[in-house]
Parts: sequence; structure tokens; C-alpha cells
Amino acid sequence: MNDIETIFIDGSMGEGGGQILRTSLALSCITGKRLHIENIRSARRNPGLAKQHLSCVRAACNICNGKSHGAAKGSKVLDFQASPVHSGDFRFDIGSAGSTSLVIQTLLPALFLAHKPSTVTVTGGTHNPLAPPFDFLSETFLPAIKTAGFQGDCKLLRHGFFPAGGGKITLRVQPRQKQSPVPAPPVSMQTQVQANQAIDLCNSGQEFRINARIYTAKLPTHIAHRQQKLLLQSGLNIQNIEHTEVRDSQGPGNAVCVRLCCNKRTTVFTAFGMRGKPSEQVISEVVNLAMNFIDSGAAVDHFLADQLLLYMAIANGGCFTTDRISAHTKTNMEVIKKFLPVDFIIEQQGECFRVSCQPLR
Ligand code: ATP
Repeated sequence: MNDIETIFIDGSMGEGGGQILRTSLALSCITGKRLHIENIRSARRNPGLAKQHLSCVRAACNICNGKSHGAAKGSKVLDFQASPVHSGDFRFDIGSAGSTSLVIQTLLPALFLAHKPSTVTVTGGTHNPLAPPFDFLSETFLPAIKTAGFQGDCKLLRHGFFPAGGGKITLRVQPRQKQSPVPAPPVSMQTQVQANQAIDLCNSGQEFRINARIYTAKLPTHIAHRQQKLLLQSGLNIQNIEHTEVRDSQGPGNAVCVRLCCNKRTTVFTAFGMRGKPSEQVISEVVNLAMNFIDSGAAVDHFLADQLLLYMAIANGGCFTTDRISAHTKTNMEVIKKFLPVDFIIEQQGECFRVSCQPLR
């Protein structure tokens, strides 16, 4: 028991947010190393563990019969000890509008390494500002990791917007496939599942098909009409706009997703409407994200970038190009390097950055 290594994490490093905790929990589950984390979310207005982060700790305990000390609201220190991860049918209710996809983000890496498939169902927010919206999870993130044999499929069962929450998603996770003798595929087939292939997302497409999706829940329809008009005037060559009037959510909500499709990959950018925020601002936020990404020539947006690092590290290598090196990306690299013998290399390539991961010899 005593010879188990303990990894000390300073939660105030870099970005100083919840991702440091989630990545640490995921890696503790995978490696079996003990986690001691202090200064949790110290760079946030409401530091310490919030409901969403507590759900991540409980969920991590659940998948590996883990033990934790300090798992209380507002706690800034946590100890976590995992036992071997097991598959199962897991259900979690965050009990607030906290992001369902961030709970998934905590569990997913470890569940891919279990021996049998798992199902995870989470109740909370499905479309939250500052977190991966469901559309991003299902259309951008899961297909990207599938290129390296990490196969998960998710379904939205009920929409949940901030602040009411009450949404529900479910995810089916397959154990990662074992090495196969199949030769590497041509680049055009890079979105197909390949057994234990490393992530290689360096080539962006030349031509994007662009479409948009507007969600409104319990709001007047003129909001969607106005946003539709603004999208068409935005300078992005949007070929199709769909409006989903959400009827199953507990509270009001408005999200605008721009979807860039190319080479069988989809990059989803999202902006959120809220009381007092003009539709002009919502649309310019999402359009700027999309335009900057297109102009950079990168293959991976800067949100996906920080989320892919862990999968590259588990797969012992890989690379991608991205439009921006965010504080989340830099911080996540530092956390991963505390647990696993890997290094990350960042090289500027024209308007974008090439990020690669290598095992340390
Ligand atoms: P806090 O920082 O308050 O603790 P948090 O727990 O939500 O909040 P962060 O550390 O800020 O955690 O991490 C947010 C995660 O959500 C990052 O992985 C980031 O890439 C992702 N994310 C944020 N906005 C988007 C978006 N629009 N699309 C996709 N992913 C997003």
C-alpha cells in the first residue's frame, strides 16, 4: 500500500481551473497513482470544489472503487486513491446545470481501458457556456479520438441549459481495440476507426461546407429569426441554417452552433445567448471563432486541442495542428507530464501550431 506513488498537484498552476482536477482524476484512475491536489480552482471567482467538480470526484470513485478525502463543497484540497477501473452501467446526477460533458471528460479515458463496454448517463447541463456543448462532444470530440481507436457514441436524451440544467446525455464506451496488423490508411480515411493508431490530425481541409444550428428554448421565435439573418450577413459562406425549438428543457436557453465540415471531420463552434446579451454579440462571437480557425489553416480548434492531449499521451504519441495554444492546453500538458512519462512539443507552422506528444525514453 505504502509504495504506491503519490502525485502532488498544485491546482493554482497555469489556468488554475477545474480541468486540472479532472485531468488529475482521470490519470489517477488510469495509472493507479495516488492524487493529492491543493489550491483547487484557485484562479476562479468561486474557488474550491463546486457541485460539478464534486460530481466528477464521485464519478471517478464509482468507476474504480476509489476513496477520496476532502470531497466537499468549497474544498480546496483533495486526496484520491483509485483501485482498478471496472466497466458498468453508470448513472450520475450533477444536481445543478453543471456540464454533463465535463463529467464524461473525467471518466472516459479510464473507461476506454476497461475490459468490457460501459454506459454512462449524466444529468445536468448539456449546453453550457465555457464547457463542451453536446454538439461538440458528439460531432467534434468523439470522432477525433475515434481516429486512434477510442470508440464512444453519445446520445442526447434531454436538453439542459444554464442555469436550469435538467438535461441528460448517455454515452456508450467500447474498450480500446488491441493492436492489429492493418496497414495505415490513406489520409482521406483518417476518420475511420483504426486499432491503436496514434492521433494524427495535422492536415486541415481546403474547402469547408459550413452550416449552422440555432437552439432556442422557451424564448420568442423572433430571436432565432434575427440570429439567422445575422448569420447570413456574417461573411461566412453558410449553406444551411436549422432552427431547433427545444421543448423538453426545464428552463430557457439559446445556443448558436457553427459547423465546419471537411474531410469527414466536423468542427463545432458555439456561442450562447443570455438575458441582456444582444444577438449581434452572440453571432459575432461564434463567427469570429470560426473565421479565425479557417484563416489559421489548422486541423484542430483550440478547445479540442486541450482535450486531445490526454489521448495522445495514453496512445504514447500523436500530433495535431491548432490555431491557438490556450492556457488550458499549456496547463493540461503540465498535469499530464506529472503522471505519465511523455513530453509535448509545440512548433509554430505559419499561422498555426503543431503539437506533438512523444514518450520519454
Ligand atoms: P472552472 O474553470 O470554473 O473550474 P470548469 O470546471 O468548467 O470551470 P475549465 O478548467 O475552464 O473548467 O475547463 C473547461 C473545458 O471546457 C476545457 O477543456 C475547454 O476546452 C472546454 N470548452 C470550453 N468552451 C468550449 C467550447 N465552446 N467548445 C468546446 N469545448 C469547450
